[in-house]
Amino acid sequence: MRLATAEINLSALSYNLKRIKELAPDARVMAVLKANAYGHGLVKIAQHLNDADVFAVARIDEALALRAGGLTKPIVLLEGFFNRTDLPILIANNFETIIHDENQLRAIETSQLDARLSVWLKIDTGMHRLGIEPQQFERFYQRLKACDNINPKMKLMTHFSCADDLNSTQTQHQITVFERLVADKPEARCLANSAGVLGWPGSHGDWIRPGLMMYGVSPMLNRVGAEHGLKPVMRLTTRVIAIKTIAAGEKVGYGGRWQSQQQTQLAVVAMGYGDGYPRNVRCGTPVVIREKRYGIVGTVSMDMITVDIGNNPDGIAVGDPVEMWGPALPVEEVAACAGTIPYELLCNVTTRVSYDYLTPTD
Ligand SMILES: *Cc1c(COP(=O)(O)O)cnc(C)c1O
Repeated sequence: MRLATAEINLSALSYNLKRIKELAPDARVMAVLKANAYGHGLVKIAQHLNDADVFAVARIDEALALRAGGLTKPIVLLEGFFNRTDLPILIANNFETIIHDENQLRAIETSQLDARLSVWLKIDTGMHRLGIEPQQFERFYQRLKACDNINPKMKLMTHFSCADDLNSTQTQHQITVFERLVADKPEARCLANSAGVLGWPGSHGDWIRPGLMMYGVSPMLNRVGAEHGLKPVMRLTTRVIAIKTIAAGEKVGYGGRWQSQQQTQLAVVAMGYGDGYPRNVRCGTPVVIREKRYGIVGTVSMDMITVDIGNNPDGIAVGDPVEMWGPALPVEEVAACAGTIPYELLCNVTTRVSYDYLTPTD
């Protein structure tokens, strides 16, 4: 019996990319595939994103894995390179790099390269993670322009810290800082992550960088993908492996943290933190069995959870499929039950889970 399985719906992926293009019709798309395509499988996902313009990852190894998988589109390294010795790898593989600091720029200026490197100059407009300071911009810009190792068609970018929150003034502030700084430059602009695409149309610019929304999931506070016309790509399922009846007052699971109020039945489900399911979900976090929601009770263990199915009116039986998240149960909701964000749950799916790629029908 097949237990923990991540069904990856590739037609939903194509659908979401189309939806992204409807939302930002004038922008080109940098499809963000870092962290194993947010847990969906790097190469398989990339193979179904022909309509994206370029790919983006966080680490050189992720970019090399895409090349090893036969993908030929340009790949942008979102954190750039970390060492001068990486530069020949970038050139040889048609990787493009973010420039976010002086060391990177100096390494490019003082290296012998076989071809020109394509670069994205990243400006810190308020996130305070990577990026040059606004007051450094003009100087960096001029040095990049003057450098023979660099493709003169550079791109200008920044990253938002609070775009998931429509009530925050931070995003508009960042857009304003960025636009003022680059106002007299002809280069293409790139600002929006998924939350920018969805919530801040004024940020779309020439290039967008959607990640989470491609996978059908909402980055916005208290929203789910379906509210934006997106379809979840991952459906994480498993099966019921035992059913048992317990008397009133019995304690369930490690630490006996949950106690039954009356006689009830428990479905034991083959899913735990060993599969990437979060251990700290609150009591009552839903799963879906036979199209109905039931709540988790007791502690999540490595391989199993226990679900209270009451007097089992629907006749749940051993072998029944259980959806942990997916079309019937948004991962955004499960993340909220675990006090985290859907990004983390998707990335955390472990190698014990089997992946099933459902091929597009359209
Ligand atoms: C991860 C990342 C993105 C994509 O973010 P989402 O919220 O998943 O759309 C965009 N830009 C940068 C720089 C990133 O690191």
